[in-house]
Amino acid sequence: MNVLLGDTTGQVPSLPPSSPWYGNQEIEILREYLRIPTVHPNINYEPCVTFLKKQATSLGLPVAVHYPVNAQNPVVVITWTGTQPSLPSIMLNSHTDVVPVYEQYWTHPPFAADVDSQGRIFARGTQDTKALGMIHLAGLRKLKLEGVQPKRTIHVTFTPDEELGGFNGMAGFVTSNAFKNMNVGYALDEGGVSSSNTIGIFYDERCPWQIEFTFNGATGHASLLLENTAGERLNYVVNKFMEMRKAEVNKAKSNVPLGKVTSINLTILQGGVQANVVPPQFKAVFDVRLSVDVNHATFENQINQWCQEAGGGITVNYIIKTPKAPASRTDSTNPLWSVIETTARDFNITVVPSILVGATDMRFLRKENISGFGFSPIINTPLLVHDNDEFVGATEYLNAITFFSKVLGNLFKI
Ligand SMILES: [Zn+2]
Repeated sequence: MNVLLGDTTGQVPSLPPSSPWYGNQEIEILREYLRIPTVHPNINYEPCVTFLKKQATSLGLPVAVHYPVNAQNPVVVITWTGTQPSLPSIMLNSHTDVVPVYEQYWTHPPFAADVDSQGRIFARGTQDTKALGMIHLAGLRKLKLEGVQPKRTIHVTFTPDEELGGFNGMAGFVTSNAFKNMNVGYALDEGGVSSSNTIGIFYDERCPWQIEFTFNGATGHASLLLENTAGERLNYVVNKFMEMRKAEVNKAKSNVPLGKVTSINLTILQGGVQANVVPPQFKAVFDVRLSVDVNHATFENQINQWCQEAGGGITVNYIIKTPKAPASRTDSTNPLWSVIETTARDFNITVVPSILVGATDMRFLRKENISGFGFSPIINTPLLVHDNDEFVGATEYLNAITFFSKVLGNLFKI
């Protein structure tokens, strides 16, 4: 019948008629999406693109597929043009890729989207972020059926490659003409599911830096006491990082919010050829997630100073060096914030401004001065992002759709 009910013609094993969710269209659409194994590495996104195109058609909305970086990484955009299309638009983003699984630790196959008797839908990507993507579409569907129109144009976007840093997805997309033409003013992207009825809304993120040091020095027989060896230089710099790390650990222990703590980890050490040869070179890589309070220039100067103090002969290569982007405002001057906060109150949900300790595609949007939040409307759900037996409950999922469509309905008016 009505095309707006969504399209689930792709072979999803049906639930038993005794199931409370038997025949539920939203559950079926989600399950179909979950069954597409967009799992790293070497993802073939085309079945996913086909699925999303089908959803757009069922909603009666136009869909565009962009390949901003290469032919393997599609960005899908479903658009509902507003009554005032010249206003900056609202973007609802999620990513289509998911992280690998250790299948032997799962009690259900990770790409089957099995539903157990409690209504738990098991699949990789339920929480990160396939349910969110389908909630965005379900919100549109509900509002279409209610016959309302958005004032601003709404773009529902699906990006690839987020789990590898988004460099083949959102990072390239935000610099494209296709993106510029979307005239995005506000954005919602992934947040974390909440185990209670309090939702952390991410208004800022720590900045990931990955720093590779190459320490060069004197080489020779290991029976000698050579000076200026690569090992001494490595030792000096590593010690400085570890001292800094200790201070950050103490901050975390004294309950400073993790977004305001810098994480520092030595992740790679390389070098040496034989036990009795002093090697001319060692390499070390640090993964650092800079707290929102850190001044990036000061931190970089500090690193350069340590390298000098260590005696020089050190090259520094930034594998990743995320620039600082403006935080999004969480007060009444930001209509996006106000809508989420007031709508949540009607649902007896508390929203708390939070800093994300990881990184999402949102950082690329903030860099373009787009005001946005990491926001998941799913509550009462244990956080199992990247974990075994990742699931979302059918009831919690449908409640999240109800909540989100109210948020979206209110965003239609701003
Ligand atoms: Zn994610």
